[in-house]
Amino acid sequence: MKTTLLGLPRIGKHRELKKACEAFWSGKIDEAALTNTATELKKQNWLLQKDLGVDVIPSNDFSFYDQVLDACLTFGCIPKRYQSIEKSNYLELYFAMARGLQKDNIDVTAMEMTKWFDTNYHYIVPEFEKGQTFSFFSKKIIKEYQEALNLGIKTKPVLIGPVTFLLQGKEKEDGFHRLDLLDNLLPVYFEIIEALTRLDVEYIQFDEPCLALNLSEKEQLAITKTYHAIANKFPKLKVFLANYFDCYGDNLDLALQLPVDTLHLDLVRCPSQLTDILESKHYNPKTKLSLGIVDGRNIWKNDFEKSLKIIEKAHTKIASENLWIAPSCSLLHTPYDLNLETTLNPEIKQWLAFAHQKIEEIIALKNLLSDENDGYLHLYEENKLANIRRRNSKLIHNDAVKSRISNLKPSDSQRKHQFPIRQGKQKEALQLPYYPTTTIGSFPQTKTVRGWRLKFKKGLLSQQEYDVLIANEIEDSIRFQENIGLDVLVHGEFERNDMVEYFGEKLNGFAFSNYGWVQSYGSRCVKPPILFGDVSRPQPMTVKWSEYAQSLTDIPVKGMLTGPVTILQWSFVRNDQPRETTCNQIALAIRDEVVDLENSGLKIIQIDEPAIREGLPLREEAWANYLNWAVKAFRISASGVQDETQIHTHMCYSEFNDIIASIAAMDADVITIETSRSEMELLDAFVNFKYPNEIGPGVYDIHSPRVPSLEEIEHLLVKAKNVLPKDHIWVNPDCGLKTRDWPETKEALKNLVKAAKKLRAQE
Ligand code: GLN
Ligand code: ZN
Repeated sequence: MKTTLLGLPRIGKHRELKKACEAFWSGKIDEAALTNTATELKKQNWLLQKDLGVDVIPSNDFSFYDQVLDACLTFGCIPKRYQSIEKSNYLELYFAMARGLQKDNIDVTAMEMTKWFDTNYHYIVPEFEKGQTFSFFSKKIIKEYQEALNLGIKTKPVLIGPVTFLLQGKEKEDGFHRLDLLDNLLPVYFEIIEALTRLDVEYIQFDEPCLALNLSEKEQLAITKTYHAIANKFPKLKVFLANYFDCYGDNLDLALQLPVDTLHLDLVRCPSQLTDILESKHYNPKTKLSLGIVDGRNIWKNDFEKSLKIIEKAHTKIASENLWIAPSCSLLHTPYDLNLETTLNPEIKQWLAFAHQKIEEIIALKNLLSDENDGYLHLYEENKLANIRRRNSKLIHNDAVKSRISNLKPSDSQRKHQFPIRQGKQKEALQLPYYPTTTIGSFPQTKTVRGWRLKFKKGLLSQQEYDVLIANEIEDSIRFQENIGLDVLVHGEFERNDMVEYFGEKLNGFAFSNYGWVQSYGSRCVKPPILFGDVSRPQPMTVKWSEYAQSLTDIPVKGMLTGPVTILQWSFVRNDQPRETTCNQIALAIRDEVVDLENSGLKIIQIDEPAIREGLPLREEAWANYLNWAVKAFRISASGVQDETQIHTHMCYSEFNDIIASIAAMDADVITIETSRSEMELLDAFVNFKYPNEIGPGVYDIHSPRVPSLEEIEHLLVKAKNVLPKDHIWVNPDCGLKTRDWPETKEALKNLVKAAKKLRAQE
């Protein structure tokens, strides 16, 4: 049996790549310095794998920004708007595509970015034109192979497969389907393979995670055609075909009949596919299987006992030389090294494995399976013990929480009355004008505000000193909102670092790493909380500041919470119970907070759920079940209040069409959404569905420092007014304002209020 990896994190243990890129962008270091950092990081990864004993090590898994962007440049898939940039200035072109460029007389926008399958990693979306041709432009894949070779390591280059590359991209004009470009693209793959085989490459890994999706016949055919064409041209090449994040599902028969050397299976997300394969009449025992048994998407220690059983099951039918042991997917989605963590509770720490530890696990599994495994049995015992300790830990289990979950009743996810009745009571209680104006919650998180938090964390500010600063900031923001005439105010979220971390820190069941960074996009990294145990709320989390804000004014202040699905989605979540159960636990904690806010006098409470859409499973068969429990969890969190209390929710970065019925089923009294950048196109889903409750389509693009004019906002509002009942419309920005500065925020919000008033006057 051999071991292999599909890819490693590349941002650097201490985010060296992030820092180097940002220094390069701001002109503080030159290209040579940036390249040196990259070379060093690649070298560290290769040598680490070599030292730990990985048999086949990947290359071309490094990237300055994103591996799909790398692929665009590899295939010469460069949109026309970048023509004005010298092609010889590779990094300038590369980063212009990633981030846009304004320099001299060049002014080009960035390419679009979207989430990579169901991860929180964002990739650059390839852009295609009708009849587009490709060429082998960037030779990065060759150079990296040679770089590793110089270190004495013969790697397995990794390249996104042509079908996934095309499918994850976008047509930029009408009249063709991007898969029609396959015939133009394949010759470039041939050229690349040719160049690599000249260097004596044995394996190439093609990533085709589109095989985890429901593919049309045309798409399936493209896969078959591609891998037959490659096999015909390069009969000696060993193709390592990687699908991950879910089952092959109804693509399995097709995958089993492909002329490839190895099929990779994600046995963490889809353990059942191993049996399906072993029993399939299409399985050819000469096709090697790569058993993705160590979780590449989460941070829990592997369960060796369970993994060995699975591997042995495969081994009953397949010779060991035809089996690989591997992680479920690239380790890009996990942090670097648990050994860096010095402040984590040691009891929790022993349950975890980051990328470095996962590699050790893969090697240990291989050694435990060898005939001379005596020297490794202690690893097995240690692993077993850690897993037993985790199962029985008092830190994890809270009987009161478990019994609350098992006693959940249908009425717990049901408001007291239906929306029309609630709406009447709320109009009575709140006395808001038509087109009420509000914001989404956060106000600018200025350097000063972040500085206070940092000082407070370091102990340089006392709790009392910090609280006074935050209180003053809140008071200023309330006065500002009153002055410009907003109808529903917010306290501004100045006390919050991040909308999930803030709640995680206040809830039981969460732990935090110091260096658990994972790349989100480009140089942006996130440090997801570790949700390890039953969730409960030791005390109110937001009441103090919301109550304080409301005490300053007679105008309603909106309480501000993060919803259960979003907290779940943006954390590393426990794997010892269904996600649904964990989500319900969070929902109950949020519900208690909602009720406490109501009791403290708040009449409006917003429960943000921007991550509902991204939690959708990859395979459509699984959507209904997910949406069912996700909607229920939201309803549990929102249903503890009286009819008069108005519940808002907020969603952004989403296409709503697929899930509009579920959004309606959440039954929030008001939803605010991001619509301004699409010129209200995203509102169509709500209009076509005849969304029954109130809605605030965003009229101000908060991603840009640009101040929208009164006319622009009015224009968007009129569009909304033409398709929605007038007593259902709210006026608000697309999302929170924490990334903006005050001057532009003030101007934009003044225009927003003016536009609403103008519309009111026309009634
Ligand atoms: N209330 C949050 C804010 O205003 C919402 C953020 C989000 O939707 N991502 O920042
Ligand atoms: Zn948002």
